[in-house]
Amino acid sequence: MPPDWRTLAEQMVKEQIAARGIGDPRVLTAMQSVPRHLFVPEAYREAAYGDHPLPIGAGQTISQPFIVAYMTALLRLQGNEKVLEIGTGSGYQAAVLAHLAQEVHTVERLPQLAAQARERLAALGLNNVRVHVGDGSRGLPEHAPYDAILVTAAAPEVPPPLPEQLNEGGRLIAPVGDRGYQHLERWTHRRGHLQREILEAVAFVPLLGEHGWPAS
Ligand code: SAH
Repeated sequence: MPPDWRTLAEQMVKEQIAARGIGDPRVLTAMQSVPRHLFVPEAYREAAYGDHPLPIGAGQTISQPFIVAYMTALLRLQGNEKVLEIGTGSGYQAAVLAHLAQEVHTVERLPQLAAQARERLAALGLNNVRVHVGDGSRGLPEHAPYDAILVTAAAPEVPPPLPEQLNEGGRLIAPVGDRGYQHLERWTHRRGHLQREILEAVAFVPLLGEHGWPAS
């Protein structure tokens, strides 16, 4: 690890995340604790703590640090939750969630990305995350229900199986829109009803699968 990664992470949290209004101290600490440079290809390590997304191979990207913090904060995690992430990618978002929840399941459709993420998470000793390979647009019914679901790939609508896998009081965050441009939506499951909020504009790679975009 570069000797200065903790300083870079601290600066990233201060200047890109806290300065833009994310106040949840648990989220800020988690973002400061995960060595982001270990989740990007070697060629991009120097740029890992910068204010931008980065390529992670297979045409996919790791989100800008602020977006990771913003979406994480929207989940309002207390520490005792079971969380589902769709779109493991590098494993970085899953690592942040692992610091904030009890149990994390993350689903990736590309086996090589899943394998790499699994290795990184294990090397960091984050034993409360399980990486699954499959079509996350169907959710992960075998471990449902979840207290929080975070989708990190964009779909034309929230895949219908996902809200069905939310616990009472559960929150779901997902980018919804066309292939290039979306809005974040937060769905909250309250006494049998789903409350829907439409939030920031974002740009995520497409969710490919049965309840997302066609894969070919
Ligand atoms: N959260 C990731 C970034 C997500 S990029 C991180 O922290 O690095 C979006 C990821 O979603 C890509 O890796 C892509 O392969 C994956 N993906 C796309 N469609 C999917 C699907 N139906 N199920 C699971 N993963 C999917």
